[in-house]
Amino acid sequence: MDAKPVLTPELARRIVGWRRDFHRRPETGWTEFWTTARLAGILGDMGLAPRLGAEILDKSSRMGLPSEDVLSRVLVEAARPLGDLAGARAEFLSRMDGATGLCVDLAPDKAPGVVLRCDIDALPVRESRKPSHRPVREGFRSLREGAMHACGHDGHMAMALGAVQLVLDQIAQGRAKLTRSVRLLFQPAEEGVRGALSLVPLVRGWPCLLAGHIGLALPETGAFAAGVSGAFATAKFNVAFRGREAHAAQAPEEGADALKGACEAVLALHALPRHSRGEGRVCVGRLEGGSGRNVVPGFARFEAEVRGRPQEVCDFLFARAKAAVEGIALANGLDASVELAGQAGSAESDGELSARLARIAEGLSWDGRPVFGRVLEQARVSVSEDACTLMREVQQGGGHASYMLFGSDLAAGHHAPDFDFDEAVLAKGALMLASAVLDLAGSRDSRL
Ligand SMILES: [Zn+2]
Ligand SMILES: [Zn+2]
Repeated sequence: MDAKPVLTPELARRIVGWRRDFHRRPETGWTEFWTTARLAGILGDMGLAPRLGAEILDKSSRMGLPSEDVLSRVLVEAARPLGDLAGARAEFLSRMDGATGLCVDLAPDKAPGVVLRCDIDALPVRESRKPSHRPVREGFRSLREGAMHACGHDGHMAMALGAVQLVLDQIAQGRAKLTRSVRLLFQPAEEGVRGALSLVPLVRGWPCLLAGHIGLALPETGAFAAGVSGAFATAKFNVAFRGREAHAAQAPEEGADALKGACEAVLALHALPRHSRGEGRVCVGRLEGGSGRNVVPGFARFEAEVRGRPQEVCDFLFARAKAAVEGIALANGLDASVELAGQAGSAESDGELSARLARIAEGLSWDGRPVFGRVLEQARVSVSEDACTLMREVQQGGGHASYMLFGSDLAAGHHAPDFDFDEAVLAKGALMLASAVLDLAGSRDSRL
């Protein structure tokens, strides 16, 4: 049997079409209702039986959830058409029961084989309107003002769907078969590393997990890295100070200034010591508080994050940040709270698995040409990734995991309003994912 998947020009066009549909209707973390329904529709048309939202996760385990108001507003919006994109089907929305994300198994009667994890959320970024921005030029700019697929997760979904279609085609044509099951996990809320924790039970006990990203450390179409090292462990947290309002001139001594406390805490976070055993990062990305010019501010809050590699550097920074907040609250007569809004550990790709994936990548060709011009076994990254939580779960259970990078020319950096990637990466990624799945869970080798 020749298990090499064959990508037709027609499927390559469909993959780009999927990407552009997702790009036009971006939804941020935990609000991916339309996106989940669209994925369910496409996978259902392929003859698969996806499970959605509350059918796969415990709703109470979701971190960094938007307010009920936001969730219900987006849910109503998702059911409506937008441009020429039909609204989410009522049947899917009711099955989601307020929670997003999707899981679908190929060959579910077989023993667990490979989990392919793909993220689905967008960012709260206002997409560029510049005529030079390709989504503007080619008519697929975001239709939801203030939300944008500015990280490439729209491409990840399109690549994963393409890979599923390729695997199904191979099986239907008798060119391959699965001896183990394959689980596609479409994960919500990757940004802010909020989503993976609630999906941990879905990968527990699985022997192999693959995840990946477009671009990042490989801003070059045709490059591929079979694994990464160096991902930061991170903690995202919200700090709130509560004090007492008072007249700013008549009786300032009766107030307790929450905004001043928050400002002191922001500076204290930036003054945390360096750590001798690794690298750390600190960022306070948003600060708000007070009610007016002449009122001692009774309330202030900020959103912050720390990162570290190895894990102990992150743990150290987070513990010191909490201590600083508590000390400043005490000194200023304030109440303070620190609420965890997202968390991911660091995880390294397994060398043996990365080497195997690199060999697969090197052997891929399309239209008589190599799919990847440059293949690395490992690349170093300087980001955090929610997938690390799932990778660690699989690795701690004795399995293997790898995080791949699909190189692409980038129009601007990730999360920027004019971010865009080269769509040539989509076909390459779909071929690679399908080939990896067929190799790891296919007939040629039942040992993972
Ligand atoms: Zn991102
Ligand atoms: Zn991303």
